[in-house]
Amino acid sequence: MTALLEVEDLRVSYGKIEAVKGISFSVKQGEVTTLIGTNGAGKTTTLRTLSGLLKPTQGKITFDGQALSTVPAHKIVSLGLAHSPEGRHIFPRMSIEENLLLGAFLRKDSTGITEDVERAYALFPILGERRKQAAGTLSGGEQQMLAMGRALMSRPKLLMLDEPSMGLSPLMMQKIMATIVELKASGTTILLVEQNAQAALSLSDRGYVMETGRIVLTGTGADLLHDESVRKAYLGED
Ligand code: ATP
Repeated sequence: MTALLEVEDLRVSYGKIEAVKGISFSVKQGEVTTLIGTNGAGKTTTLRTLSGLLKPTQGKITFDGQALSTVPAHKIVSLGLAHSPEGRHIFPRMSIEENLLLGAFLRKDSTGITEDVERAYALFPILGERRKQAAGTLSGGEQQMLAMGRALMSRPKLLMLDEPSMGLSPLMMQKIMATIVELKASGTTILLVEQNAQAALSLSDRGYVMETGRIVLTGTGADLLHDESVRKAYLGED
């Protein structure tokens, strides 16, 4: 399978602090790829760089055959790369439906947009039931669903999800993970960042383990789930 996203020797700094220290990885078309790692490993920084919010100091990012360094940040979404950020960033006073429509801001096909709003409601029925309510009235898990639904409204080729299970109840987390499996089945390629390594690796085709700005291990989701060092560091085993 071809790589939809190819990252080569990427370095990113905040002033004098280098948060990402020369990482290389790829995301294959149609797969779920996960970055796991402890707090501060550089996972969020990596996603923010891929969506153009941070400028790398070095390295090459190729998305769908195009070098992203030549693409201005505001054009990256239109290439098909969507980001559901950590902490969700929904607009609490706007309605659920208005939040979803924001995700389609680059599109002009009103019929397609309406279809995709309905698809988001089919994926997450609670959003449909409460479509006219202020998004700030949703629970944390429901806001996460809204952030995912909004990212999907650009019909992305690659959906990047930053810690979608953060702060969720086990039941909500299961729902989010099941949705990721469903999205993959419908052809969306996914790059996932997760603290919950067990859940994320279980549904991933490939995983990369990050530690202090570097990738220290890679393998299939199943390989990493069974790897002794991963089990000790991330799955709480002695
Ligand atoms: P977490 O799971 O805690 O979000 P992470 O793997 O996503 O961790 P990053 O948020 O990418 O890690 O952070 C990587 C490093 O960069 C950390 O040392 C962090 O303190 C630092 N960092 C992140 N954002 C900034 C910033 N705006 N200014 C300075 N340093 C930052």
